Amino acid sequence: MNRKTRVRFAPSPTGPLHMGGVRTALYNYLYAKQRGGDFILRIEDTDSQRFVPGAEEYIIEALAWCGILPDEGVERGKMAEQISERHPHAPYRQSQRRAIYRKYAEELVNKGFAYYAFDTSERLESLRKDAESGGGAFTYNYQVRSSLDNSLNMTKDECEARLLQEKHWVVRFKMPENRVVKMTDMIRGEIEVNTNTLDDKVLWKVADELPTYHLANVVDDHLMEISDVIRGEEWLPSLPLHYLLYEAFGWEDTRPNFAHLSLLLKPDGKGKLSKRDGDRLGFPVFPLEWRSPEGDISHGYREDGYFPEAFINMLAFLGWNPGTEQEIFSLEELVNAFSIERVIKSGAKFNPEKAKWFNQEYMRSREIDKIASEFALILSEKGISRDFEYIKRVCSLVRERAVFVKELWDLADYFFVAPTEYDQTVKAKFWQAETPEILNSVKEFLSRIEPFDKESIEHPLSQYIKENGWQMGSVMNSLRICLVGASKGPSVADIMALIGKEESLKRVERGISA
Ligand code: GLU
Repeated sequence: MNRKTRVRFAPSPTGPLHMGGVRTALYNYLYAKQRGGDFILRIEDTDSQRFVPGAEEYIIEALAWCGILPDEGVERGKMAEQISERHPHAPYRQSQRRAIYRKYAEELVNKGFAYYAFDTSERLESLRKDAESGGGAFTYNYQVRSSLDNSLNMTKDECEARLLQEKHWVVRFKMPENRVVKMTDMIRGEIEVNTNTLDDKVLWKVADELPTYHLANVVDDHLMEISDVIRGEEWLPSLPLHYLLYEAFGWEDTRPNFAHLSLLLKPDGKGKLSKRDGDRLGFPVFPLEWRSPEGDISHGYREDGYFPEAFINMLAFLGWNPGTEQEIFSLEELVNAFSIERVIKSGAKFNPEKAKWFNQEYMRSREIDKIASEFALILSEKGISRDFEYIKRVCSLVRERAVFVKELWDLADYFFVAPTEYDQTVKAKFWQAETPEILNSVKEFLSRIEPFDKESIEHPLSQYIKENGWQMGSVMNSLRICLVGASKGPSVADIMALIGKEESLKRVERGISA
């Protein structure tokens, strides 16, 4: 069937978005954009018990930081979107669609695909306990439903009376007996499941007049004309139920294609990557810093200094590769290169070092203006202001060695503040009895160089040192100590050219007498 590609990212606002969730959003986005389709953000907030304040805002901000912008869906700061050309299926928050779902639940009951269940939670709990004490597990399914308190076992009148009187009934799906559901997953291929292994899931609850995930998800995917569902593999066990729901509603013709993404694994490959791994090993698992309602703070890629482009590039490679040597991809290039067929079935091991590697690559290739403006912010926090051109030149000289912009200060502080201390261990290696005298001559030589740029300094200076028969290493390193206070930095000529003649001579003089 030829229809417009429409995908959705459908997080539940139960906490901050884990990087695995961002990857799901990213793959959806890439898949849609490659096909000229739409990427929709739907908030699945029907489970009020697990609702966490601030989580929705966090999700929206995290996607925006990553540059994964929804074409349609929940928007920042809006309580509800109005139906409009941009938002033809509004609202996109399930709690605001409450009125929609009941009739679908009733339709299933009327067609015989679902039934009303009145079993109290106490009764179900005791059935669960009994089963456990016998070493088994209680499942509400075809084997036991005829002995439980539901509409299948009572007259229509009795059922109707109880529906009106009682406040805790639910609608359950009547899972067919002994049927093999054949499904296709774009990543995993053909899958078959016998319905006898499945239970009669709750679809709708009168207590809060809300659907459960399964009903809301299928109904909304249908109403929002979703063509492809790409989601985490934790939803794979729900796929047979979803297939059967499409069938029961008679929506098979427009049933979306499904793809279930494997988990992100811990760096050692043993188990699911969790927030605790991040805390333990010192890397973020969330895109942005998160302050829980209890006040705990979790690291975020943004706050740790990652570029969103590097983060996205790294995430894309957690479970997918283009089949070529190329590793650096902009979002646009990812849109072109991505293919769901190349997404791996097995779990993708997260490597924090590789994340840094990606950032370093972006540090090297990012527009220098961007790097310099970010560094200018750090400088101004330290009360340092210099002209932008100067900051840019500093960044160009030292960025090769940095993974993060925040490291530039340690690499380049001496470009802004003259050293007042000199690394004694380094000094001991190169500084000799005659060094002060030599440096005085060098200073004198430097003062005559005009213009004072790298080319006019570099070669003539080394010639001058050679002609005098001085040791190149000792002189150059001593000069560096005077200029920097330590052994770091680009070439001595680069440093002097940038800080200028006057400042260079001052530093040499101070270094000699220190
Ligand atoms: N609300 C579900 C989640 O947060 C969405 C699953 C799906 O995409 O169907 O994982």
